Amino acid sequence: MQSLPNRPTAEPVADVLIIGGGVIGCSIAYHLSLAGSRVLLLEREHLAVGASGVSAGMLAPQVEAPFDDAFFALTLRGRAEHAPLAQTLLEDVGLDVECRATGILRVARDEAERVELQRRQRWQTARGLRAEWLEPNELGDCEPLLAGAAGRLLAGGLWLPDEGQVRSPRLVQALAAASVKRGARLLEGTWAVSLETEGDRIVGVRTPAGALHAPMVVLAAGVWSKDLARTVGLEVPVGPVKGQVITLRALNRFPCHVVWTGECYVVPKVDGQVILGATEEDGNYDRRPTLAGLGMLAEAALEFLPWAGQFTVEGMWAGLRPAAPDRYPIVGRAPGYDNLILATAHFRNGVLLGPLTGRWVADLIRTGTLAPELAPFSPERFQTGSADASP
Ligand SMILES: Cc1cc2nc3c(=O)[nH]c(=O)nc-3n(C[C@H](O)[C@H](O)[C@H](O)COP(=O)(O)OP(=O)(O)OC[C@H]3O[C@@H](n4cnc5c(N)ncnc54)[C@H](O)[C@@H]3O)c2cc1C
Repeated sequence: MQSLPNRPTAEPVADVLIIGGGVIGCSIAYHLSLAGSRVLLLEREHLAVGASGVSAGMLAPQVEAPFDDAFFALTLRGRAEHAPLAQTLLEDVGLDVECRATGILRVARDEAERVELQRRQRWQTARGLRAEWLEPNELGDCEPLLAGAAGRLLAGGLWLPDEGQVRSPRLVQALAAASVKRGARLLEGTWAVSLETEGDRIVGVRTPAGALHAPMVVLAAGVWSKDLARTVGLEVPVGPVKGQVITLRALNRFPCHVVWTGECYVVPKVDGQVILGATEEDGNYDRRPTLAGLGMLAEAALEFLPWAGQFTVEGMWAGLRPAAPDRYPIVGRAPGYDNLILATAHFRNGVLLGPLTGRWVADLIRTGTLAPELAPFSPERFQTGSADASP
């Protein structure tokens, strides 16, 4: 951990001050420092303490998408960023973020799900993506744990071989390490209390140790971005959707792929851990796991993936997904403030989109131009009178 400059100063402490040490803040720090900007990142607790530390780390645009739209296109691009980035980070800072194309098997629990998943398979295949329908008796060929009776509990499944995963906290750590290597300063245990303005500019960030000044500020504080924005009268409509997970260990029979039912998923990790997730609890700011949440997860797994009942329990975690009312990210200049960038509300896809958001926010800061693909997700869409309120 680094320490604050000795005295608060009106001199800029960096070219860009980033608030939030999750995957979004660290990815922005990484891309900016790669491009030569001087970066200072403030994290209230420690890196990846928020949603980014709890995430299952799936890179899963296809399994989530009900239809082909601008957001789907964005998430596909997001997925493509990961493998090259993982290789670069491995060579650069020696950390394996466990980026693997393990594939996802989205199983159907009943006829209605079967019809819906087959519909998705058709449009995704027509779009040139790999998506294969498996009948119940074929599930075991893909995932041995679904052979025989386990497969017959299900109404088939959609096999998506190009979906992947990373180890989310490791990705944050690697992005942070690569940023520091290029001169970025990351201050853990440093709370950004409020933003400070002079006219229509943000001039700094107040911390308990005094004000820090920078010509550009990025608000990437996850669900807490709303509170900080309010300190300068900005309404950023982001709220929490709590997610709980149980970390498990398979003693002998280990899943080969991510298996996802409508209500839960199991994600096998490189070291033999299996993440069982996740609840979706709207409006809940409490970061502690609850018996009800964990019970719901266990029940959902045992009903359709009964073999998971043999896994031993290692831990229980909860995190707050930052979510906008329309469930799409909020990325771009803050309305009314040219030198404040918002990068939040990545909801269920912050890990998937983190590297791409980081690269495009860095480009926005350095060139003044927002990638056109991000235009539908700009904060402007929530301004009253905005022509189109949905991406
Ligand atoms: C259970 C669960 C499973 C998930 N699974 C997936 C998945 O499989 N794939 C996927 O892509 N996404 C997944 N997500 C979503 C993903 O984790 C989030 O979208 C992403 O982590 C959001 O990153 P962030 O950096 O915006 O926020 P966070 O990770 O919450 O980081 C915000 C940081 O800001 C800091 N902060 C807040 N206020 C201040 C302040 N005033 N001063 C200084 N620092 C401050 C916090 O301490 C925190 O570290 C999952 C989320 C959960 C909860």
